[in-house]
Amino acid sequence: MDVRTADSIADRLRIVMDRIRQTALAVGRDPNGIRLVGATKKVSAERVREAVAAGLRVAGENRLQEAIPKIQALRDEPLRWHFIGHLQRRKVRDVVARFEVIHSVDTLELASEIDRRAQAAAIRQDVLLEVNVAGESTKAGFSPHQLEEQFAQFSGLTHLRIRGLMTIPPPVDDPEQARIHFRTLRELAGRLSALAVPEVAMTELSMGMSSDYEVAVEEGATLVRVGTAIFGRRDA
Ligand SMILES: *Cc1c(COP(=O)(O)O)cnc(C)c1O
Repeated sequence: MDVRTADSIADRLRIVMDRIRQTALAVGRDPNGIRLVGATKKVSAERVREAVAAGLRVAGENRLQEAIPKIQALRDEPLRWHFIGHLQRRKVRDVVARFEVIHSVDTLELASEIDRRAQAAAIRQDVLLEVNVAGESTKAGFSPHQLEEQFAQFSGLTHLRIRGLMTIPPPVDDPEQARIHFRTLRELAGRLSALAVPEVAMTELSMGMSSDYEVAVEEGATLVRVGTAIFGRRDA
């Protein structure tokens, strides 16, 4: 069975989970060190429920308005929610505490706002810093250089728990072309980690989507965000 002929969400999910596992083992990684985040934008709560029944444990949503009713509808399921889309400052209050991890912190100002709201909610919010690895002018995210310069300032944000980095590389025809970008992210995480900023960890790398998650796993991804390969085409 392969992705083209698998016709249920459960079948496709099993294929993706199996490929993650096989790829991890092939490069000597522990498959348990990789979490699959189902990218559920435009996917109904009922279809997400099918995926949970087949073993999905983390869902990633891009938009707060779309996520809120789904989180409510699926509140009895063993499912955690991650925020993976661009986050506007005025939405921060409603995102903090509702999502286990925010993958898309792309400015120091946004980080400060999350810190402020997390403090008000008396929690520490897990976040990842989004990096624009290829320097695309249309894309959000810190440049690697900027992040290295600003990095020490994050340690003052005591209600954030920075866990690592996230990237969305430019679209490519061949998954191999994404490898350099995943490697860039991993190497940046290594340099940031060496700065030994207190309270900041660089253990998570959120990278890889439907077209290139296996390459991402080979390059060290700990979170892969996969939508189409599980739920089918969003415009279908
Ligand atoms: C939609 C989305 C994904 C998943 O993309 P697919 O190509 O459908 O797997 C991953 N990350 C983010 C941030 C997304 O918006």
